[in-house]
Amino acid sequence: MHRPGCDPENMTAEDFLCDFCLVTWTQENPFIEGHRGSLICSDCLTRAYRAVEFGEGATNVPEHVNCTLCLLHRDAPHWQSSVVEGGPVVCASCVHQAAAKLEKDPESRWERPGQ
Ligand SMILES: [Zn+2]
Ligand SMILES: [Zn+2]
Repeated sequence: MHRPGCDPENMTAEDFLCDFCLVTWTQENPFIEGHRGSLICSDCLTRAYRAVEFGEGATNVPEHVNCTLCLLHRDAPHWQSSVVEGGPVVCASCVHQAAAKLEKDPESRWERPGQ
């Protein structure tokens, strides 16, 4: 997400917050963008990946709950943030897309977690 009250004409790294843990964007912790300015950081992506891939804390969400990144409800495992109010969720499909994107970015040095 974008920091509330930020100047859209003059965005700095500090104005970009992970929707799932609210950290700011840094070189060491790259972000992947979803719809409507939603963002997931690489740390949360690692947690989400372990959840949807290995079932570590994966959750099925009720029908009225939509994925923060794609804004859709999918009948698939989700990962839910426990540190942000409202518990935003990300669906397995977005996790896989984001993982593929981050892996292709040589600067991210992100690797999908092994079991
Ligand atoms: Zn995060
Ligand atoms: Zn999604």
